[in-house]
Amino acid sequence: MKQNYLIEKYAQFLPITAETSRKSLGEGTTPLVRSSRLGSELGLENLYFKLETLNPTGSFKDRGMFLAVAKAVESGSEAVICASTGNTSASASAYAALHGIRSFVVVPSGKIALGKLAQATVHGATIIQIQGSFDDALHIVRDITERSPVALVNSVNPHRIDGQKTAAFEIVDELGTAPDLLCIPVGNAGNITAYWKGFTEYQSAGKISSLPKMWGFQAAGSAPIVLGHRVSEPETIATAIRIGNPASWTGALNAQDQSGGKIDSVTDDEILRAYHRLATEEGIFCEPASAASVAGLIKRSQNGENLSQLTAVCVITGHGLKDPDTALSITADRVEVEADVLLVEEAMNLH
Ligand SMILES: *Cc1c(COP(=O)(O)O)cnc(C)c1O
Repeated sequence: MKQNYLIEKYAQFLPITAETSRKSLGEGTTPLVRSSRLGSELGLENLYFKLETLNPTGSFKDRGMFLAVAKAVESGSEAVICASTGNTSASASAYAALHGIRSFVVVPSGKIALGKLAQATVHGATIIQIQGSFDDALHIVRDITERSPVALVNSVNPHRIDGQKTAAFEIVDELGTAPDLLCIPVGNAGNITAYWKGFTEYQSAGKISSLPKMWGFQAAGSAPIVLGHRVSEPETIATAIRIGNPASWTGALNAQDQSGGKIDSVTDDEILRAYHRLATEEGIFCEPASAASVAGLIKRSQNGENLSQLTAVCVITGHGLKDPDTALSITADRVEVEADVLLVEEAMNLH
């Protein structure tokens, strides 16, 4: 068992020194699984899902957070702070606990999925709920960290991006080449920026000759990059991407333009349909924001994009258990009967 798999495998691409902590919760090395049905229905040669749901706190945020917190500790910080739509706070508080330092999380009140709030709570974060949006929260924590020794661990912290780019490395290492398409949800746009950085660094290192087209998907009610202007009151069921003024806006546009890709939007209906299909046709339970990558791929194929002979990877960013309210809003195939064999058999509709 390696001490810190990402550092040992990708040290040459990471800002690691002898003093950088190797503490790890086992982040990264997530499975790339092949689609069993959706891919062929969409006419793709190969469709894979990168299951970032299997990171220690259930989202890709851990890939960047292990490094951001290690570097904060290395530079003498005794506390970290972040603005969050939920998963950043879950991840920051877990890694702060691992390192024995404090964590402060600033979140929009009432807009955090239940499981994520549970995670920050149990890891001992100081949770500050503001009557405002994620964008307000990010503005506040940036302001605070300019004046105090608390380390900012949002994705504006370059260590987050460097950690997250390892997902692109893993995809290439596993496929032996870059995919043709990389589909990814876009919120604050750190992750699309990180994947693009990973692919281009691997190209510079001579590990791949071609680069994927980057297809990023925002929720229609929170689609500033698609609209070309900030959204002051972003709305979507996909709370992880409910962001009106992405910090890495330029990074997302670069990824789109340099790759010949596209940043597009998908409606909440399209997101929920993809969410349900992933669960019922593929056995993959993700949170709504993650389904935006698949919803976008479906939308673009329905709009006549020719996908035959292509290999696509959809990034499944966060686990479905984080948002039980959305899961339970689906009409269940559920009945209650007395504890009786015949009644249970009858309920199974076998006769
Ligand atoms: C953070 C997050 C996103 C959005 O990533 P950005 O880097 O903010 O674009 C998407 N899905 C999930 C589950 C997330 O936690």
